[in-house]
Amino acid sequence: MEETIRKAISGSGADYVEVRIEKGSRSQVFFRKDRLENIESSTESGGIVRALVNGGWGIAVFNDLSDLKSKVREASRVAGHVASRIDDRAALAEAPVVRDEVRVSLKQDFREVPLQEKKKLVESYNRILLSGGEKIVSTIARYTDSFREITYSNSEGTFLIQEVPDVTLMLAAVASDGGANIQQGFETLGEAGGFEVVLDREREAEGATRRAVDMLKAKSVQGGKYTVILDPSLAGVFIHEAFGHFCEADFLFKNERLAKIMTLGTAFGNEDLNVVDDGYIPGRRGNTRYDDEGVARTKTYLIRKGRLEGLLHSRETAKRMGAAPTGNARATSYEHEPIVRMRNTYIEGGSATFDGMLAGIDRGLYAVKAYGGQTVFEQFTFSAAYGQEIVDGKLGDMVRDVVLTGNVFDTLRSIDQIGDDLEIIGGSGGCGKGGQYPLPVTDGSPHIRIQNVTVGGAR
Ligand SMILES: [Zn+2]
Repeated sequence: MEETIRKAISGSGADYVEVRIEKGSRSQVFFRKDRLENIESSTESGGIVRALVNGGWGIAVFNDLSDLKSKVREASRVAGHVASRIDDRAALAEAPVVRDEVRVSLKQDFREVPLQEKKKLVESYNRILLSGGEKIVSTIARYTDSFREITYSNSEGTFLIQEVPDVTLMLAAVASDGGANIQQGFETLGEAGGFEVVLDREREAEGATRRAVDMLKAKSVQGGKYTVILDPSLAGVFIHEAFGHFCEADFLFKNERLAKIMTLGTAFGNEDLNVVDDGYIPGRRGNTRYDDEGVARTKTYLIRKGRLEGLLHSRETAKRMGAAPTGNARATSYEHEPIVRMRNTYIEGGSATFDGMLAGIDRGLYAVKAYGGQTVFEQFTFSAAYGQEIVDGKLGDMVRDVVLTGNVFDTLRSIDQIGDDLEIIGGSGGCGKGGQYPLPVTDGSPHIRIQNVTVGGAR
């Protein structure tokens, strides 16, 4: 393979060429309510050439390897054409030339599990979801797996082979009181692991269906300002969605005002606040031992001791900003070029205990799991899956319709306690950006306490 790629690249006339070839297999089983909506397994292979000529990029996607030489020519020709029409020329920061092979060994390789066995398992979880009683009106039980072998080579001499496994499970139940009150309970998980990850998840299915029904009885939260404790799952989504995307250097080129706010050294929180984006944590979905430009994994502090310390870079954004590449150039598949993306992003653990956080709160709210959310520049809106009142330092009744809104920078500064119970969580979805979705990532956090959070009472 290496020889084939070398030959195709040589004599391209481009300043830089890279080739990424992917061989993959995937399967999916999806039940909704009492129906099997989808069951499939497939294999796919293809590749992409990216060429840089005089500061212009060209790409060419292919499925047939015997085309490689002509695809290199095509990408170079496009790049030359682009270069003739732009003023803003791309260049790449230096990156070490590497040669490596990253193989994984799975405890129980999902490629060897028959599709019918996967179906049986997902169906059994779906039955549990449906068993929540007559109030359950719909369910989702969805399993996915994929295994990719990615070969990467560039004209500088880097040659890499990496195996990337991914397995996810989503279990959700929807309950209705027959009227307008419709509630959901769900559990999602995802890891860079084997079939064992999704086994023995009966308790998760039971929990999801029970919560959907319980939430029908919960009262709607009263809107207002609260001292809020976020659970690790919701806090993780917050740090990824509301803050992490601003740390992607390519985003800042498009937004001058935010680029100013995101000046290295700026204080964003108290001394205890540390936020990390890490390219390797055993078993995690966001793992990128080498990114899709062949840059080795880094552990990057975005915030250290409350101050902005780093941004996330591709080789191109690193060059533009005079920084070092961080290994964050990622593509969802061979059909796309790499762009700056997060990996495993989390708030580091602190020293507070959950009980200690509760103790100081007269009237507050415990918000658990993200149900959905959106951000418009610095303003975020997140729906929690559910909440619990906090009264005189103790957890009280369940509440629903918990919607948190705020300005991300004000909110970071209002974090006054950080728990000692860091959890890194891989859900079943992924991150979307620039038309590339879903990219496997994880996020995480310990419990965190935030002062003065605006809570709305309607979804
Ligand atoms: Zn995202």
